[in-house]
Amino acid sequence: MLPPIALVTRLNREEEQAWLEVLRRAMPEERILPFGELEPQERRLAEIAIVANPDPADVAALPGLSFIHSLWAGVERLVMELGVTAPPIVRLVDPELSRVMAEAVLAWTYYLQRDMPAYRKSQTEKMWAPREYRHPGDVAIGLLGLGALGTESAARLTQAGFRVEGWSRSPKVLENVVTHHGEEGLKTLLASSDILVCLLPLTAETRGLLNAERLALMPEGASLINFARGAVVVAEDLLAALDRGHLDHAVLDVFEKEPLEEGSPFWAHPGVTVLPHISAPTTPVTAARIVAGNIAAWRASGTLPKTVDRQRGY
Ligand code: NAP
Repeated sequence: MLPPIALVTRLNREEEQAWLEVLRRAMPEERILPFGELEPQERRLAEIAIVANPDPADVAALPGLSFIHSLWAGVERLVMELGVTAPPIVRLVDPELSRVMAEAVLAWTYYLQRDMPAYRKSQTEKMWAPREYRHPGDVAIGLLGLGALGTESAARLTQAGFRVEGWSRSPKVLENVVTHHGEEGLKTLLASSDILVCLLPLTAETRGLLNAERLALMPEGASLINFARGAVVVAEDLLAALDRGHLDHAVLDVFEKEPLEEGSPFWAHPGVTVLPHISAPTTPVTAARIVAGNIAAWRASGTLPKTVDRQRGY
């Protein structure tokens, strides 16, 4: 009999149970047990852990792991908490997640391109104040990060007629997208972005990337959409750029501390739209299918999809 797969989470009971059911349905041949239900012997034998915000001590109590499969696409917290000696980490790369994120990027890009924050404000002031229409082809979108989520978002934006430039760590070639890399590439992209969309992982290199100096490179009246991680942006520097009118608006789905603290100036700032980390929720059924496929491939041939690079942090 195969050793059981450990499901290790800090989700509440109902959420963990829901994941358990959907994972068991996706791989009926496997025995998947929540960490708390594993016998000591089973803990020693488990080769695979499926995780969602796991307690690192629980993961450490599984000494025979060959790999860890995350149910989330973003693994910054996992990488930080488990340290460099943990087993290889496979993160979730799900076309459905990319579709959901690309949909959110397009939706909030339209929100800014069609001046919805300004019209909302006009309404509260009972002001009839039409603004000039901006054609998508006249709006330049700068995409930070051209990975699984960024690539799909770029495609949706170009299909919708927006001008798109993108930035990644390594050079990339993407249809209808002007691509950049490196510090000089970032400066060029920032200087030409009417709307900057952040889809970068949080790493040692990207923490605090969008600081006062770099935000100042953006054109007057530009906007920001941050759907990646809060700490990529220096919150005080963003607030200062909005306060002095250099930036027009920021749509923020992610924050250094979540839920966003009651005292945060973001809540009431007229130039900020606060979202509660909803731009791209995982779809359990498709995610479970991806995890099942990766586990079946590993059982059959010992191969894994590209694992997280601990040095790079993503
Ligand atoms: P990914 O496939 O790993 O892509 C990351 C992209 O960022 C790659 O293009 C990478 O460059 C680029 N990058 C990383 N470090 C860089 C650096 N120092 N300089 C320039 N570019 C850099 O990740 P993904 O699946 O697209 O996900 C991106 C992030 O989205 C996740 O890490 C997570 O934080 C966030 N996320 C948010 C939500 C939400 O609901 N808000 C949901 C899911 C994910 P290369 O191509 O050269 O490697």
